[in-house]
Amino acid sequence: MKEALAIGIDIGGGSIKTGVFDRLGKEYKLLNVPNPSPLTNESFLASIDSAIITLHELYPIAGIGIGSPGPLDNELGILIKSANMPSLQNVKLKEHLETKFHLPVFYENDANCAALGEATFGAFKNLSSQLILTLGTGVGGGFVEQGKLYLGYKGNGIEIGHMTVVIDGALCGCGQKGCLEAYFSTKGFLNRFFEKTKVQLKDAESFFTEVRKENQIAIDILNFGTVAMAETVRNAIHLLNPEALIFVGGITHAWDLFGENLESLIRTRIFPVLNERLIIGVGGNLAGSLGAASLVFQR
Ligand SMILES: [Zn+2]
Repeated sequence: MKEALAIGIDIGGGSIKTGVFDRLGKEYKLLNVPNPSPLTNESFLASIDSAIITLHELYPIAGIGIGSPGPLDNELGILIKSANMPSLQNVKLKEHLETKFHLPVFYENDANCAALGEATFGAFKNLSSQLILTLGTGVGGGFVEQGKLYLGYKGNGIEIGHMTVVIDGALCGCGQKGCLEAYFSTKGFLNRFFEKTKVQLKDAESFFTEVRKENQIAIDILNFGTVAMAETVRNAIHLLNPEALIFVGGITHAWDLFGENLESLIRTRIFPVLNERLIIGVGGNLAGSLGAASLVFQR
């Protein structure tokens, strides 16, 4: 890999974000293409093609990394379906792009890509292992050990947002009850707030504004969610024993409202020997496309 530049593609519900990076994480170019309308497998692939063609003409590219919502099959490189893009089904991303561009294509879950990007280029890089939680609309996660992403069978591992924290608890977007995501995520906070008040807040920021205004209902929801997060993290730390626990994503902007409490709840719940060594922190909010590009540079 002489030139060592990679294209990273971050597939989202609204747009396809593409970037060119080197193995130090330096950004050369970013392209943001809105998802085509109507969105079909064909129009979606055509949009990705045109972004890659543009970047490939400008830079020598060694490989393509793609992160997308799942469920997916990382070995076959198929986006099986996505809740935010319901018109897509069984998109053969890897096969299509490898055939068209004759480059290696790596394809993983977006939360896993974000975790690998953070572990490779972020505030806590060069540690032996990092458990990374992405706090946003939902809760995603990834585990990186010795610079290598843990994938699970066919790449759907570390779905930490869907670990049960309340048996028979609140309904989660995944169809099951009591997941962490139903208590500590944008969706979770808004749904729990609506349940209690019949007021539909529009985003995480408006929820945290209620907390700052000392709305007791919002405070109680955040506090319960924080305990739910701490208990889930406790389980994960006992399972994986990471060197560092890192939180990233939009909700970390409100870290001042819950971070100290969360850290203290985690530290008092895990084995003392683990607590003495564990680093807990907030990562940078690196571009999703950088996380995807880091797949190309892994190991
Ligand atoms: Zn769930």
